[in-house]
Amino acid sequence: RAKAEGRRCYHFYTPEMDSALRDRLELDQSMRRALEQGEFFLVYQPRVDLASGRTLSLEALVRWRHPEQGLISPGRFIPLAEETGFILSLGPEVLRQACRQIRQWKASGLEGIPVAVNLSAREFRQPDIFQRIMEILEETGVTPADVEIEITESAAMACIEDTIRIITQLNDRGLRISIDDFGTAYSSLNYLKRLPVHAVKIDQSFVADLQEDPAAHPEDAAIIRAIIGLGETLGLQVIAEGVENTVQRDFLTAHGCYTGQGFLFSRPLEAGAILEYLGGRRGS
Ligand code: C2E
Ligand code: MG
Ligand code: MG
Ligand code: MG
Repeated sequence: RAKAEGRRCYHFYTPEMDSALRDRLELDQSMRRALEQGEFFLVYQPRVDLASGRTLSLEALVRWRHPEQGLISPGRFIPLAEETGFILSLGPEVLRQACRQIRQWKASGLEGIPVAVNLSAREFRQPDIFQRIMEILEETGVTPADVEIEITESAAMACIEDTIRIITQLNDRGLRISIDDFGTAYSSLNYLKRLPVHAVKIDQSFVADLQEDPAAHPEDAAIIRAIIGLGETLGLQVIAEGVENTVQRDFLTAHGCYTGQGFLFSRPLEAGAILEYLGGRRGS
């Protein structure tokens, strides 16, 4: 029986696998070409004060404008980019674009709205990641306080001693750090306590289930309340992701989470549209 199952695992050389592998190699090559052609760009999603709707910061999210396939979202290429290592070329480009945009917004009078950039696990594991980040900030002339680094809970907890060292270095220089997709990696609270981070982001999967009736999803509601309580205890900002309706917003504010992002407030927008969005909001 074990033998039969074992044999069933050896699917490596089927024609389907060949074509899947070819697809991935093709995608990898076309990503590298796309980077040279300048096809990657950033959109920005406002993070708002849930009660007033006022924008507190922005999250930069990468997009690929493919000449034939149109707009491709990161879910389709970031996982492969992580695997092949292409992310080590794309990541710096993302941070550089975000920094240039911060400078441009500042020049047009937009101040005091930090921009968060997602850093993948693979990027974060580079031994000299701190220097790499600082170099890009210096090269673009951006103040560290205007930049936030988002790192997922699973990446942060994978190698905790390295994480503490790197996050401490970034924090000492004045960058903000947040833990993304929080609640999905079962990390030890003892570790979180040792990380000088500014915020935890409640993963959108917990928020999504509150759609119609929070009482119908007691586990998600409990996890959200636990994360909010944890944030309070450790003095961290708690940011909810994927806030799509007023039921979710009201649940969050009633339980002490005052910051969020999601389609209820705004989809991720191109840089120009962000200025309009903020201009419109400021007046109202
Ligand atoms: P994430 O960092 O957790 O980003 C949140 C995702 O939720 C974004 O998807 C955002 O567009 C989406 N979202 C925002 N509001 C709502 C909402 O109300 N409802 C729903 N259903 N979704 C919402 P996106 O832009 O497709 O990015 C997906 C993931 O790809 C990100 O998750 C992040 O892990 C990764 N990613 C995106 N940009 C970058 C990047 O520049 N570098 C790296 N390393 N990863 C990135
Ligand atoms: Mg993020
Ligand atoms: Mg997230
Ligand atoms: Mg996520």
